[in-house]
Amino acid sequence: MLGRVLLSLVLLMVAGRAYAAPELTIGCSPTSAQLTLEQVRALPTEAWKTVDPNAPFVDLAKAEWCRLQVSGADTLGAVVRFKVSSALIAPVATFYWPDVLRDDQGTQVGVETRSFGGARHPSVLVEARHTGQPIYLRFLTRSSPRGVLEAWGVSDFTARVRAEQSFEMAVMASMAVLGLMASLFAYQLGRRVLVYLCLWVISVIVLRVLESGLFTTWVSIEEDARRLLNTLSLTVAIAFSVVFSDRYLKLGDHFPRISRLLMALVLVLIGVGLLTVGQVTTHLRELYNALIILQFMLVGICALVLFHRGDEMARFFILGWSPVLVMSVVRTLFFLTPAPLPVWLEPLWQVTLLFAVFVLLLVTARATRDAEREMHVVRRAASHDALTGLANRASLFEALKSGMAKARTTRAPLSLLFLDLDHFKHVNDEHGHDVGDHCLRHFAATLQSRLRADDMLARLGGEEFVVLLPGVPLEHARKVSDDLRNVLSEHPLILGDLTCRMTVSVGVAALRDEDDAESLLKRADAAVYRAKAHGRDRTVLETVFDAPALSLR
Ligand code: GH3
Ligand code: MG
Ligand code: MG
Repeated sequence: MLGRVLLSLVLLMVAGRAYAAPELTIGCSPTSAQLTLEQVRALPTEAWKTVDPNAPFVDLAKAEWCRLQVSGADTLGAVVRFKVSSALIAPVATFYWPDVLRDDQGTQVGVETRSFGGARHPSVLVEARHTGQPIYLRFLTRSSPRGVLEAWGVSDFTARVRAEQSFEMAVMASMAVLGLMASLFAYQLGRRVLVYLCLWVISVIVLRVLESGLFTTWVSIEEDARRLLNTLSLTVAIAFSVVFSDRYLKLGDHFPRISRLLMALVLVLIGVGLLTVGQVTTHLRELYNALIILQFMLVGICALVLFHRGDEMARFFILGWSPVLVMSVVRTLFFLTPAPLPVWLEPLWQVTLLFAVFVLLLVTARATRDAEREMHVVRRAASHDALTGLANRASLFEALKSGMAKARTTRAPLSLLFLDLDHFKHVNDEHGHDVGDHCLRHFAATLQSRLRADDMLARLGGEEFVVLLPGVPLEHARKVSDDLRNVLSEHPLILGDLTCRMTVSVGVAALRDEDDAESLLKRADAAVYRAKAHGRDRTVLETVFDAPALSLR
């Protein structure tokens, strides 16, 4: 996917340079007074002030009228393209073809902003038969056009537009895929910040579709409606990017005032954006662009401060987002100056957008994975005993309840061993608490190694353990108990010179119809009590007389 973007970027860099560019002569009308087409046509050639075609035509706009002449086009003719640098796109100019001038009715050609060159780069085809003849161009607004005019041979131009569109499509397809991934993550992981990232991606895709002119080649749409959509999508894209940055960096926690200011600026930007839809004036547009720069700068400064404080999210934010911030500011600065956007700016800007989504998506996914791991650790800590790693009392009771329910539905037996280490206090007293701990761990590991996967060994507390034996009747449980005691005596704990032998008293009980978890455990405990009374280191089965009422020691 990214390979396709890079390939189309390379093609974009070389496309449309096969032939020598046609020569474009530009003249602007000698007066800023309003002239009619007839008056313009009557002006002698010498009266037009020659203008450098490479210079921004901001001065031309003051002149209202300008005269273009293309020579040296290829056999198909030439294309004159506006490279308009303007954040808000308005109809720029009307072209009057030589044919129109010859028209007896004086019919005028409509506003030429819809063409295959894209909305930001409106272009007109000058057919081969018209090259060499003057074309008149009338600026529709004195404030909006900024940029340069350039002439292309038709073949070169077609190659160029194809390369631009294929790059645009590659970027948008990649953005769409990343956006989809972000939305899946957002849905699965419930991360709100990813929702803002998705919304930003969607609004950028919409913006690019509108700006590139792709939309207007698919759907015919009124100029005003297109402008409205354009401004709205740009405003929404910026608003989501600011909200995303705010939430991602948790600015509300770190810099509550700046966070509030940013949200207020977003609202102001939306307001100004809507105003500019009605009437594009230079001041409004400059205010709009200045607001964008201010917001991006604020976000950038906050990220830098957080980065300086060692905030990890800020580090990734700077890595992924700063190219977008820088490029967006540079792009907006260009909109504020008469200079046209340089050729490299748009592709680079789009690559940075893609890079940002990529990095932030990866980072958020990583952060979520880490959070899940932490959650796992916490959950494990809540259900397991820290010393031995065995299930703790709470999970024993859960397992006991579900084991009992299963035994009842399958009519299978279920036995329980209650194990209490003998004279364990002596171990602590003689060798110290640390050795005691070692013994408990050793005891747990030794028993665990002998049990089946279905059995469950849990630490009830202190030196008391329980083994749940699903599917095992009482008599067989005694054998299991004796086997465990044998293993324990065969494997004493050896710590350097110290050999620590442990014995255990075991009480065994089997599930009865009237049992609940407590009563079953109490009967096994009563059996342990008798095992201790009879000299310890033995297995004792419950008796029919063991009443559930006996209390736990
Ligand atoms: P009995 O044969 O009657 O069961 O004697 P006992 O000494 O094992 O029983 P008692 O209930 O008197 O003492 C239990 C001892 O287990 C006391 C306590 O220091 C020790 N113990 C409980 N939990 C831990 C632990 O986590 N680590 C260590 N090292 N010792 C523990
Ligand atoms: Mg005890
Ligand atoms: Mg004991």
